[in-house]
Amino acid sequence: MPHGLRIAREALAIGSVSRSEVLRYLGYQGQPLSPELDRRIDDTVARCIRIARSRMCMASYAVREIGAQGVALEGCTLRLTGHDIVEHLADASEVMLFATTLGAGIDRELRRLSLTDALEQVIFDAAATALVERATDAAEARARAYAAEANAYTSWRFSPGYGDLPLGAQGDFLAALDATRQLGITLTPSDLMVPTKSVTALVGIHPTAQPGLVSSCSICSLSDFCTIRQTGRTCRG
Ligand code: SF4
Repeated sequence: MPHGLRIAREALAIGSVSRSEVLRYLGYQGQPLSPELDRRIDDTVARCIRIARSRMCMASYAVREIGAQGVALEGCTLRLTGHDIVEHLADASEVMLFATTLGAGIDRELRRLSLTDALEQVIFDAAATALVERATDAAEARARAYAAEANAYTSWRFSPGYGDLPLGAQGDFLAALDATRQLGITLTPSDLMVPTKSVTALVGIHPTAQPGLVSSCSICSLSDFCTIRQTGRTCRG
């Protein structure tokens, strides 16, 4: 099995986002878009990409114990509690934690737009949400490659606040990644992250292929960042 990975801080080169994802975050349901709005979305996405400083950090921890009390990791205080995460990590030997952020410039721009242009703020917010998800795809691709190098497999990514994994895990999660020092991510009293366009997530590292991943590389959201296929294999074995 793998033997540990630490990435303190790394810039992510994200040059595009899925337009359909931006439209989804805007609540688009197939209604016609005026050419003006169409162009405006493209311009806003491009500006969002220019302003963002997409970065990630990542660390793997060996699983010490999985039981009714949750999942305990070697060498860190983070305990992952709840039925859903226990089931998700059932036979994992290791857990890969990662955090991504677009940086404080995106929040500054959202604040500026809130005072000057409400429509632009909504579009910019949707673009930034799609962009941080894409940055998180890039980080997840890295975790999958790490597992594949050791003939292991990852489960799909899971974040504090999903299912019954409490959002209150964020503090220990960020501490396990040293994410405040590395990426400047802090928490509000209600455990929301600042910069707001930040994501924490984990995948399990498992000895066997896991259910729930896409069945084909052609529809995989990680494909632009995938290094596994270059080896003639896939993350499904
Ligand atoms: S592109 Fe294929 S091999 Fe790469 S992560 Fe996606 S499904 Fe796995």
